Amino acid sequence: MFNKFILLVVAIVCLAHAGYAQYKPCSTDEHYWQLLEKYPQLADYQKQFDEQTERVIAERTSSTTPDTTTYDIPIVIHIIHDYGVEDLADTVLYDAAAYWTVVYMKQNADTSGVITPFVPYIGKPNMRLHLATKDPNGKPTKGIVRFQSYLTEAADDGAKFGQWPPNEYVNIWVINTFGASATGAAAYAYIPASAVFEPYYDGIICLSSYANYAKTVPHEMGHVLNLYHPWGSTNSPDVACGDDQVDDTPPTKGHNPSGCLPVALYDTACATGYMKTYMSSDGTMDSVVNYPDTTNAQNIMDYTYCQEMFTKGQVVRMRTALTSATAGRNNLITASNLALTGALAPMPDLPPIADFTVNKCNTCSDLRSYFLIANSTSSFTFRNASWNDTVSDVLWTFSNGATSPTSTTMGIIGNHFSTPGWVTVSLVANSNAGSDTLTNTHTVYVADTATVGGLGYTQSFTSDSAIANWPMFNFYNNQFKWEFYTGAGIGDNSCLRYRSFDSSQRYTGSAVGDHDDIYTPAFNLSNTTGNIYLNFYTSGAYTHTGLYPGSTYVNDSFEIDVSITGGSIWTKIGGFGGASLADKGNYGVEYVPTSITAWKPRSFTIPAVYHTANTFFRFRYHPGNTGNDLYIDNFSLDAFPAGINEVLASSTSSFNIFPNPATNGFNLIFKTGNDGTISYSIKDLTGKVVYENKKVFASNSVQQESVSRDATPAAGMYFVTLTIDGVNTTQKVVVY
Ligand SMILES: [Zn+2]
Repeated sequence: MFNKFILLVVAIVCLAHAGYAQYKPCSTDEHYWQLLEKYPQLADYQKQFDEQTERVIAERTSSTTPDTTTYDIPIVIHIIHDYGVEDLADTVLYDAAAYWTVVYMKQNADTSGVITPFVPYIGKPNMRLHLATKDPNGKPTKGIVRFQSYLTEAADDGAKFGQWPPNEYVNIWVINTFGASATGAAAYAYIPASAVFEPYYDGIICLSSYANYAKTVPHEMGHVLNLYHPWGSTNSPDVACGDDQVDDTPPTKGHNPSGCLPVALYDTACATGYMKTYMSSDGTMDSVVNYPDTTNAQNIMDYTYCQEMFTKGQVVRMRTALTSATAGRNNLITASNLALTGALAPMPDLPPIADFTVNKCNTCSDLRSYFLIANSTSSFTFRNASWNDTVSDVLWTFSNGATSPTSTTMGIIGNHFSTPGWVTVSLVANSNAGSDTLTNTHTVYVADTATVGGLGYTQSFTSDSAIANWPMFNFYNNQFKWEFYTGAGIGDNSCLRYRSFDSSQRYTGSAVGDHDDIYTPAFNLSNTTGNIYLNFYTSGAYTHTGLYPGSTYVNDSFEIDVSITGGSIWTKIGGFGGASLADKGNYGVEYVPTSITAWKPRSFTIPAVYHTANTFFRFRYHPGNTGNDLYIDNFSLDAFPAGINEVLASSTSSFNIFPNPATNGFNLIFKTGNDGTISYSIKDLTGKVVYENKKVFASNSVQQESVSRDATPAAGMYFVTLTIDGVNTTQKVVVY
């Protein structure tokens, strides 16, 4: 019975490890090599720093005064999250941080499992890691901050938002998944020499699933304090014998993530007969130390799953780094810095920070539900995500005729709304230490089911207020977003634009992974026969300056989705991206279209299944770092596709009318003649001229002339006669 119990426990431990076996624990080396390519002088710098370290270590080793100082190190944890599993609770992080200190004070119980040959070599770093109690502005904190970003996925250095001065705090960022630069890693860190070259990335970045897992952060902290992997800095364990410049960690190939198997624990490859000879000051051989002939597989800097110890030699190396000015590490432990960061003060009892998120709704196909019709059967679901203290109770308040206008639900609350428009959501979070309120007036949008038109609808984005029922979402509240724009347009000076251009030499905040939406009002497309085209014009460019000089890729993309379920299900019906989206080429400055020919017609057939009495469309933009701004104008729902050159090329007529039928005026699209002069007249059915005009354009060029709705006094059919080079052509237009 007893034996069975032991077997069961072993099996559970192995399974838990199996889940982690896909990872190489650490990609510190890869980042070091990447940095070395960028800054070749880093190699010399690191060599000098290592030599200097050697000298200090020699002095310390020969010193008769024992080094018993306990060093205190302020830390801050940045949770970069999108309200997923990576948004770890404060209490989980307090536990994790407490354990890191346990390891750095050599109080971890598992040192009892260290194999006999290494027991004499177990080192005590004698360091304590403290969550800061003062932030860089001197404000009280619990040493944990949170920032919502899509960059919690496929993270890299660019996800290191909001770094606190790295010579005052060790920054630890927690993310959900790593991107290509750290594929398969659980975490990585900057060794001091690397941090000198890119101080704004100095710190540890760690998967949330490893933040509170065993020795992951203690291992990375070893790198922060200049420790290498025991086999060197190849990040290829179990390949070739290597060394970490620490004497009492025998040479080793290192070990791939695996259980604590005897083959690793008693591995003698590389270490057999390993001894070191030390010279005395007069140059004669002083002493020979015969180190263990097994490798130190239980070292926290190895990749086994039995990381239990640092060696005494590693401890000296870490303490040397921590007392060196390189990367400002020695400032961390000064009395003045400990006072500045409040590292030694007890954690203050602070009020909660109120926060909430919109959850994925159970009936919605979309990730989160931000847009639903009034009285939708699908619900918007909100979740309390308040933090920074143990929340005792909450009070929700919702506008727009919510089914639950107030609630004290601590978890998830579903709501339906009867009044169209932006919903105001307010959450009060209370704790023993106080209260905090978060009010957001643009969290979710309730769409009006009343339709604004159907076939023949046009929207030329003439004013912000004219498109009040076209809600725009900047989901991550950053500079990449949709906006109403005045300064360009077709036939007027206004349009929509997506702001993808980013000239700043930012170190964080890559656009990749972001997306932003515009939703249309409802259209009635029922009772129509034949094709319906969703038409609009775009003008876009890319930029290969700034952070991406010479890049040949345009990574931005745009998609159009449709919903006939009141916003609960969306289906993509079209899109474009890359060079097609950025058809105006490379602009090093923010792009603005300046002529009519800069606009490209876009037409998407709306499949018949979406010709319903209540059809919505959504424009979604995915920025990709190499984009410039994209402009959109003259949206219409037409029986014919949009187009200037295209329509002219396919037409036997010398001009075209767009849109037709028309509600808010229409455009004449034509190619001018040799003198560039055109004149046109509009007659009603009785033959009476209701409007005429004459203009001069560039000769033999494709042009567009906008005719306002005022030119046609009443709804009905009109005849437009255009004269080019003395030749008259007449077309019909229907005005609603
Ligand atoms: Zn490592």
